[in-house]
Amino acid sequence: MLLKDKRVIVTGASRGIGRAIALECARQGADVVIGHSGSESSRAQVQALVDEIESLGRRAVEVGADAADPDTGDKLVEAAVERIGGVDVFVNNAGICPFHSFLDMPREIYYRTVDTNLNGAYFAVQAAARRMKEQGSGGSIIAVSSISALVGGGMQTHYTPTKAGLLSLMQSCAIALGPYGIRCNALLPGTIATDINQEDLADEEKRARMIGRTPLGRLGRPEDLAGPAVFLASDMAGYVTGAALLVDGGLFVNLQ
Ligand code: NAP
Repeated sequence: MLLKDKRVIVTGASRGIGRAIALECARQGADVVIGHSGSESSRAQVQALVDEIESLGRRAVEVGADAADPDTGDKLVEAAVERIGGVDVFVNNAGICPFHSFLDMPREIYYRTVDTNLNGAYFAVQAAARRMKEQGSGGSIIAVSSISALVGGGMQTHYTPTKAGLLSLMQSCAIALGPYGIRCNALLPGTIATDINQEDLADEEKRARMIGRTPLGRLGRPEDLAGPAVFLASDMAGYVTGAALLVDGGLFVNLQ
């Protein structure tokens, strides 16, 4: 029960990494606001997650709102205040990665990616931090960045800057919010098998190459991010701020 009675918001929690983090937070004793896009396709998954969290005896509230909208952070915080009493932990996880080549990158894809992954996140982090400051008892903000904050990707020229931006945002916010006891850290997942890269990893050769480059010998699973997120959210990480935690099976350090 590392998060007993903590009030947690996780964006992009309908599926993949966000879902695994939201569920583990509830297992560790937290009430959770589940952020998602509000699309019809994820409705059943969101309801299943609400049911699962409630079956653990914790409260779950779902909020469908576009992560790219600068007002979405306020909506998530409002829901947390009204339904679970406040915000102690904010996990900014929602993101997209529509693979595309650089020279013919459509502006629409570029702007949608930056708005969803970074611009909306900026204002959501701000909304959560304002509430935490008002509560006066500190807090933990976690951005799900990526190994892509540290390395490039020819088909991800619109995506990697957003992940480097999130890492940088956590570093700067660690300084800006330290005086209020609000810690800010980044998680940097490696290759985690989720919907975001399902198409890319359907290529058997590419999949085998990625596994071969990973010292731990497998792709990541969404649950691999849950423990690190809970740690950063918890009081066990009380002196950890401005940090970047790679969760990549050793992929980054493998230069072979
Ligand atoms: P995923 O399975 O595709 O899940 C993406 C989540 O983001 C879903 O909950 C989705 O909600 C939400 N989302 C997408 N667009 C949104 C929008 N406009 N408004 C609100 N919510 C939106 O992907 P994932 O792999 O778990 O990715 C989660 C985060 O981890 C992303 O930020 C990604 O960049 C990062 N990451 C992933 C990997 C990896 O290998 N998988 C590696 C490094 C970093 P709906 O279901 O409502 O669409």
